[in-house]
Amino acid sequence: MADWMQIDLHIHTAASPCADEEMTPWNIVRMAQLEGLKLIAVTDHNTIANAWAVMEVGKQLGLAVLPGIEVQTREEVHLLGIFPTLEQASAFQELIWNRLPDVPNHPEVFGEQILYDSSDRPIGTVKRLLLQSVMLGVEEVGTAIKVCGGLTIAAHVNRRSYSLIGQLAVVPEGLKLDAVEIDRSLSYRGFLEKFQELGCYPVLCSSDAHRLTDLVGSHRPRLFLDEASFAALEELLHSDDRSRIQFG
Ligand SMILES: [Zn+2]
Ligand SMILES: [Zn+2]
Repeated sequence: MADWMQIDLHIHTAASPCADEEMTPWNIVRMAQLEGLKLIAVTDHNTIANAWAVMEVGKQLGLAVLPGIEVQTREEVHLLGIFPTLEQASAFQELIWNRLPDVPNHPEVFGEQILYDSSDRPIGTVKRLLLQSVMLGVEEVGTAIKVCGGLTIAAHVNRRSYSLIGQLAVVPEGLKLDAVEIDRSLSYRGFLEKFQELGCYPVLCSSDAHRLTDLVGSHRPRLFLDEASFAALEELLHSDDRSRIQFG
């Protein structure tokens, strides 16, 4: 049923070395529900490996969970890819995995990259270091996300590091963005003043949660969606009706 909903499309699990071990499937889904979120996406650095487990828990507890990824491009830009299905996310993962340098993770330096099953049991770790750039440029990554049926969102564009604007200053012509994301340190009004050149894109604010408390807060906009689904999200982002995204 169409309604105003809060969503969060940028959440890390413990597969990201920089995220806390408490970012397990059950903890994430239950915290998201406590916060009243209707739709979330799991976006670990360069991997979708924990997405299925969070999606399973979402099914059990009644929360819509989309598989996603936060890719670090060759230019050290973070782009979010959000996919309709795990199969499409997996197809994207295959496209980029052999472009991620085969450098082992050093957990004592970077942190563990923990995989969970849908009962929150640790079932292994990702051996390759995820906190590095894939050998693909922003336009190539954006195209690959599109080919796999996903949505491309420029992550935390207001940050100096690891953001599209911080690294490249402009949106390259060949990069087709579905939305831009600001983090909670910048208000929507502040965004419009500072980033006029991005005013043509739908703007979202997600948590970029690396620990459970990052999920708490009223920074997210409310979106008027037909339902809590990828299709409804895509429809909204591709419509020109900006009044369906409202910041507090
Ligand atoms: Zn990032
Ligand atoms: Zn992130």
